[in-house]
Amino acid sequence: MQPRCRLVLAMILLGAVPGFAHQKVASRKQAPPAAPPSRQEEIAQAAEALRPQLIEWRRDFHQHPELSNREERTSRLVAERLRAMGLDEVRTGVGKHGVVALLKGAKPGVVVAVRADMDALPIEERLDVPYKSQNPGVKHACGHDAHMAIQLGVAELLSRRREQISGSVKFIYQPAEEGAPAGEEGGAALMIQEGALENPRPQAIFGLHVMPTLAVGQIGVNSGPAMASSDSFVITVRGKKVHGAYPHQGIDAVVVAAECVTAQQTIRSRRVNAVDPLVLSVGIIQGGNRFNILADEVRLEGTVRTLSEDVRRRVPELMRQTLAGVTSAYGATFAMDYRERSAITYNDPQLVEETLPGMRRVLGESNVIFPPPQMGSEDFSYYQKVVPGVFYFLGVGNKARGLTAMIHTPEFDIDEDSLVVGAKVMANALLDYLDHHADVK
Ligand SMILES: [Zn+2]
Ligand SMILES: [Zn+2]
Repeated sequence: MQPRCRLVLAMILLGAVPGFAHQKVASRKQAPPAAPPSRQEEIAQAAEALRPQLIEWRRDFHQHPELSNREERTSRLVAERLRAMGLDEVRTGVGKHGVVALLKGAKPGVVVAVRADMDALPIEERLDVPYKSQNPGVKHACGHDAHMAIQLGVAELLSRRREQISGSVKFIYQPAEEGAPAGEEGGAALMIQEGALENPRPQAIFGLHVMPTLAVGQIGVNSGPAMASSDSFVITVRGKKVHGAYPHQGIDAVVVAAECVTAQQTIRSRRVNAVDPLVLSVGIIQGGNRFNILADEVRLEGTVRTLSEDVRRRVPELMRQTLAGVTSAYGATFAMDYRERSAITYNDPQLVEETLPGMRRVLGESNVIFPPPQMGSEDFSYYQKVVPGVFYFLGVGNKARGLTAMIHTPEFDIDEDSLVVGAKVMANALLDYLDHHADVK
């Protein structure tokens, strides 16, 4: 070692070269360290080679869609395919038709989970494509067919790399994301109740959702709230029945209910800070039984969406105050049944920070978009209440090919290139997580 080098080294150790000292601290903070390019390249090639298989899986699911809590065939095929890949434990019947499987890497490490949903919607297929739905009135209109195919692709890609994997990946296939049928339990909450996040408990969870407003090749990521909470209410307004010609002798529940509907909108516009997103929508109004009789009871049903737990907690009380004021002004009464459903889909900011460099590396900096949060909801939020999670949006749109229809429409379809993109991004995200936490345990 030359004396001059020794001097520089001493200065660095003493922090006398500010640039050096600062860089050292900054690089320690940066996480995760970039994966060796060879692995990323290998996964890209393997995912590309898997394209026909990914498309075949997706089309098979698309042709045989099953409604929430009725995913028998879907579940059977998922389990068969995971077993064929040699996954270590494949549990079926979790949360009705859910499947949970574990892939153990050869090296020690932590557990990370990934979740895909399985159910289709009661929507008639309007696509004239070779893979159109063969189940009349039912369609994979929310892209859960793509989610499952991508997650099978990730399982396939990772199962071939076991020797290099530190830790384990838990694959969760969840039924009934769209909501269990009336009177039934289901979805993420039931899967968690039945142990999907136990034995072993993952340290983090990842999930994705197709998004036609993003072009294929892009993903959308939110740090913090990504999707809204979703609660529901049933309000019964009670008045007094009377002949329609003599309204002054009764209490018209229709007029009172109409005022309740409009007055509730002032919660959004006048009671909650304008910078806090809130949606309060009435979807059903039912009441009365004859044109010349005033209704003595009107039922209102609706939904409340927020991006802040604080607002979410306040809304039911604000609704009660408003309803009490309006109904008492007319001598009417009300009852409200308010139910909390999905929580806010909240992406752990630290986990997002950790995951972004890998996503940018795989897709290119400009293809990782930060869209505003959405007022739609996801029951992925239940997992995020137990472990930190990241739920991101996968671009499946392609304007040039006319693939622009929104999810939950009869025309919805995806650019199937997104299956390869999705498998690549998720496989890298999971491996990066395991690498980064391998010695942190
Ligand atoms: Zn949906
Ligand atoms: Zn969905």
